[in-house]
Amino acid sequence: MAHFFQCFESLQAFSFNPVLECPHCAACSHFVSHGFIYKKQSRAQPKIVGKRLCCSNRFGHAGCGRTVQLLLSCVIPKLRYGAVTLGVFIALLLSGSAVAQAYRQASGACSARNGWRWLRRFYHSLPNWRLPMQRFNSVAFQHRSHALQLILSTLAIMLPADKNLAISAWQCLHQVGFC
Ligand SMILES: [Zn+2]
Repeated sequence: MAHFFQCFESLQAFSFNPVLECPHCAACSHFVSHGFIYKKQSRAQPKIVGKRLCCSNRFGHAGCGRTVQLLLSCVIPKLRYGAVTLGVFIALLLSGSAVAQAYRQASGACSARNGWRWLRRFYHSLPNWRLPMQRFNSVAFQHRSHALQLILSTLAIMLPADKNLAISAWQCLHQVGFC
């Protein structure tokens, strides 16, 4: 079942498919809307970034009662910031910025602590990222720590041009969260 969508229209169209199969119980035709997912970024109004569907077990439905999330691909699940901020962070790291500086500049936050958390998430995502790839070249990043060498050499190949769009496209293609 698809979880990431390029635009809200395709997400909505998918959610209204009357014969959607539940990934938990494989039942068909029991999904009901369970409300929109909003995300608030800085001072802007919260924006709709997704939709919850419930595999209903009430009112004549025979589903399992669990919910699934459909998300816009610019949203990184479990991360407050989206693909735009993450893309800037990665682009800065690839161009040689220190982790703390890259994080502050990308997120606008005062503390850079989260930058290291993001790197930990990246490190744990490496097996996922590297699975569909064949070549790695970590030579260009030899001046960084070993973990950063692995992360940056992988990201440099994975996200060749526009980082933000490439992260969204990656989530759509693989249908899993980026990190
Ligand atoms: Zn179900």
